[in-house]
Amino acid sequence: MEMAAGRDFQAAAKKAGAKGIKLYGSLCEGQQLMNVSGQGHFKEIFGGQLGNWIQEELFIATGLVDLFLMDLNCSVPTLKDYADKYGTKLISTDPVVRFTGVDALDFNPEKADEQAERILNMALDRFKVRKADTKRLINIPGSSGSTECIAGYTTETVLTMFGNNINTYIDEMKKGNIKGAVAVAGCTNVRHDQGGKSIQQLTLELIKRDIMVIGAGCASSTHQNLCMSTKDMAKKAGEKLRSVCEKYDVPPIVSYGSCTDVGKILDTVAALAWTIGCDTSQLPVAASVPEYMEQKAIADIFTALAYGLLTHVSPAPMSSGSPLITRYLTEDMVNVTGGRMLLQDDPVRAADIIEAHIMAKRKIIKFDV
Ligand code: SF4
Repeated sequence: MEMAAGRDFQAAAKKAGAKGIKLYGSLCEGQQLMNVSGQGHFKEIFGGQLGNWIQEELFIATGLVDLFLMDLNCSVPTLKDYADKYGTKLISTDPVVRFTGVDALDFNPEKADEQAERILNMALDRFKVRKADTKRLINIPGSSGSTECIAGYTTETVLTMFGNNINTYIDEMKKGNIKGAVAVAGCTNVRHDQGGKSIQQLTLELIKRDIMVIGAGCASSTHQNLCMSTKDMAKKAGEKLRSVCEKYDVPPIVSYGSCTDVGKILDTVAALAWTIGCDTSQLPVAASVPEYMEQKAIADIFTALAYGLLTHVSPAPMSSGSPLITRYLTEDMVNVTGGRMLLQDDPVRAADIIEAHIMAKRKIIKFDV
């Protein structure tokens, strides 16, 4: 971002006939870019987050993307076909992603500046070729394709919203104005419905029941695409949560970033447990990966389980062939870490079970019920 925002590259882009260079994010990398996009000159060059992993081909099909960097296996195998058709150059920046006919430039932090320069020069070259092609295909979505969102939350920023005092947040929890909190994170998939549908339904169900939602990963992209990462969503929350959101000017759904930002989410969980003086497994909180698809989501799921959280997963991961493992994850594990896996494909039913779990935990730590 820094190199692209610099005067040299912006001037080179203008000389080549462009208005400048814009960077767009997609998937979890995009969430990370968005987390820092409010700083300084990044504001001018960050064009926004394009969406979740299922939408990758659509970005390229606009015909407006000169260069597409991939560092994750969430890059779909058909990308090369789209890239060739619409004039986009693909580059893999990590050995985990390799496509036939796609150049690799594996990221090396010690050579970050040199690599950024090479990548930006390649983008400029591709722009010139694309611009000179009079038959190029361009599909620009209507203005309804863009939505507003707030992103980049951390334990610290959430606390700032509550007057920089974690006890303010805990008091609202004690009174039942915030019944609990659930991390809705991870991927999108089309296993049961349109990608993002279960994330949308579960999130709406939770906030309606005065349960705050922390988003991360492609689940956050879904929230952002659907205009759910805004303060205005307080109108869709239950009466109590709505009043808290309006009092402190906070949204009921806060985005923490990428799927690998689960560490930041658990930092908030630990801060709550430490201040209340209970174990993380006793908190009225839970985690959900309502449209699990990829192994990073598996890492998130097991981290949440190790933290003692009820962890909703849909569809069932590829462990269901073993009754022993399934029983351990869904029943016996609670005796080890305090966490257990909830397998439930219906988002409303999942919200029922999560709410019942939260109410039971509230009783244990003697919050008003
Ligand atoms: S791991 Fe899941 S949430 Fe993260 S980028 Fe891939 S699809 Fe999205």
